[in-house]
Amino acid sequence: MASNVEVDLFCPSCHAVQHLKMPTSVDLGKEPNQQYAILTDSLFTHTCTKCGTRFQVEHELVVVHKDAGYALLLAPDAKEETSKVDAPKELAGLKLRLVRNVNELKEKVLAFENLLDDRTLELCKLYLGLRQEPADQQATLFFAEHRDGQLSFSKLGPTGELEGMVQVPDSLYLELDAKGKSLETDPGKFQRVDPLWVFGQIAGSK
Ligand SMILES: [Zn+2]
Repeated sequence: MASNVEVDLFCPSCHAVQHLKMPTSVDLGKEPNQQYAILTDSLFTHTCTKCGTRFQVEHELVVVHKDAGYALLLAPDAKEETSKVDAPKELAGLKLRLVRNVNELKEKVLAFENLLDDRTLELCKLYLGLRQEPADQQATLFFAEHRDGQLSFSKLGPTGELEGMVQVPDSLYLELDAKGKSLETDPGKFQRVDPLWVFGQIAGSK
């Protein structure tokens, strides 16, 4: 697997051509600092060499952390309806997930690094969604942190702005965990595990 790809892009501000060298894969076992770079967006942020404007570039990237048991494919160009993508054989046995943007990628890294099951987290989100005011239905929840006996989710509005945080107690997670773990993903494929997928799995199992 090549680890870098070179691309030419125009700066969104001054339109000067930028030669960018972007990683196509990151191994968090070998480069633990990259976890911080993902969580702070710095891995996806570039500074224009001409005008100094900082801009984000989302690109295809595989993030692997074998010791923590997961591999993630960030595929910004994946179609909305694509729910899984073939994974390389050497990643078999890991939790394989497909994500389409950096927020989803960060959420999965945080979940798996906190030793939480992302399927159960999606069930927690469904539960929270049912309790939301109708005006909040446009908001999207992303797992943010686990501490003091609570799981916190960031609530992002339709244009990605942070609207607030919502919490559930650990007891809810534990209650839903068996159900979450019973939702089967396709081994050997990067699988999308998001609210829609979880909802479909539950609806289909009735
Ligand atoms: Zn520029």
